Amino acid sequence: MFDYQLIRSTRRRTISLQVRNGQIIVRAPSFLSQQQIDLVITKKSAWLKSKLNDAMQIETANEAKFVAGSCLWINGKKKTLHIHFEKKSSLENLDDKILVILPQRIETKCLEKVYLSLQIKKQLATWLKEQACHYITTKLPLLVTQTGLNPISFKIRLYKARWGSCNNKGELSFNYLLMMAPLWVVDYVIIHELCHLKHLNHSNKFWQLVDQYYPNYKDAQLWLKKHQSQLTW
Ligand SMILES: [Zn+2]
Repeated sequence: MFDYQLIRSTRRRTISLQVRNGQIIVRAPSFLSQQQIDLVITKKSAWLKSKLNDAMQIETANEAKFVAGSCLWINGKKKTLHIHFEKKSSLENLDDKILVILPQRIETKCLEKVYLSLQIKKQLATWLKEQACHYITTKLPLLVTQTGLNPISFKIRLYKARWGSCNNKGELSFNYLLMMAPLWVVDYVIIHELCHLKHLNHSNKFWQLVDQYYPNYKDAQLWLKKHQSQLTW
């Protein structure tokens, strides 16, 4: 059985269940017995479980991560996150800090911390995606010319556990979180995926080709490995 906060009311005719901040709140008419209330909760247990799970996921995903003062990597530089509220939302990438400006209406809503963190995350994601689109759209054609390896298409998206991908149709995808890494590391990932157009595996021949176009690829791999834990969301 779940833990819950019970609020009884003489005016209430029906029972209502709510999950707020990871806690179950039950509002019930005073004539309902404890047994009847427990029965409703048991009936609704699947729904309650999924609600509690959502709340927990939001919390673990964002807790202390996207709040003022937390650290963030942008283009291989560690930056401190600053939050401001102004009329319009925007984002400024400064030397040692990243300033996320959220609309004032969000501040006046008297927010829960988790919700605020989610708004910051969304704004950062949009910005990183724009940066990635801009950089890769500019850089990819240069590397295509350099290598003679030509993809059918490419897209920018979010991956949980990879930096890029190449399929057997010759389509490439890149993770926009790459913009957290230095640009020389991003170039390695682009070369890596381009080389998969010729070898769709990680064979010796594949690595020889990577080495040909990007001789210090091991430094780039090392950078990604070393900072892996700080580059996830
Ligand atoms: Zn690969």
